[in-house]
Amino acid sequence: MAIASEETTLTCNHCDRAIPSSNIDLHYTHCSRNLEKCKVCGDMIPKKHAEEHFLNTHTPVACSLCSETMDRNILAIHKGENCPQRNVTCEFCEFPLPAIDLAEHQEVCGNRTELCHLCNRYIRLRERYNHDNTCTGIAENNVGTSRDVRAIEREEGSPRRQRPEQPDYSRRRILFTIAITSMAVLLGSLFFQKKTENSQVH
Ligand SMILES: [Zn+2]
Ligand SMILES: [Zn+2]
Ligand SMILES: [Zn+2]
Ligand SMILES: [Zn+2]
Ligand SMILES: [Zn+2]
Repeated sequence: MAIASEETTLTCNHCDRAIPSSNIDLHYTHCSRNLEKCKVCGDMIPKKHAEEHFLNTHTPVACSLCSETMDRNILAIHKGENCPQRNVTCEFCEFPLPAIDLAEHQEVCGNRTELCHLCNRYIRLRERYNHDNTCTGIAENNVGTSRDVRAIEREEGSPRRQRPEQPDYSRRRILFTIAITSMAVLLGSLFFQKKTENSQVH
């Protein structure tokens, strides 16, 4: 009874696995006839599938985006995180482009300006996030005196100077910019006119 419960194992010379000693002969016959150890990964592979296993698992594959060859098991990571040609999105204009071009594109794209509706100033897109957190939205929004309006007008300059550097990405934004500028100019001249009238009266 004690012997039966302490059944020993032996190691198969072919696959190096521990096999109950009562089964070892049968196992070894089957194992050595049908299985072979993959020289690359060490897995026991049915002999008739050995070639298929090697081709499917261990031959280098080419990335379909950048055509660099690599081990198959890192291809997915490469395509998702490392491939220079993988698609990424510009954080400023949300345009998809190859990762390798991203830095250069964002350098230009982030320099474009956008009107902050709270403080009525033009803010570089790259500074927009910080600005949104710190914008008081009070001083410049308070167009109570003609001096303020004209100060903004001078600061923002002509529509030509405000034009974003990459107009193809933001046509609507430009149109909006122009509209806002025209309004500011109009307001400015109205106030200016008033002031002139006032000074003429006195
Ligand atoms: Zn074996
Ligand atoms: Zn293998
Ligand atoms: Zn690639
Ligand atoms: Zn962009
Ligand atoms: Zn602001």
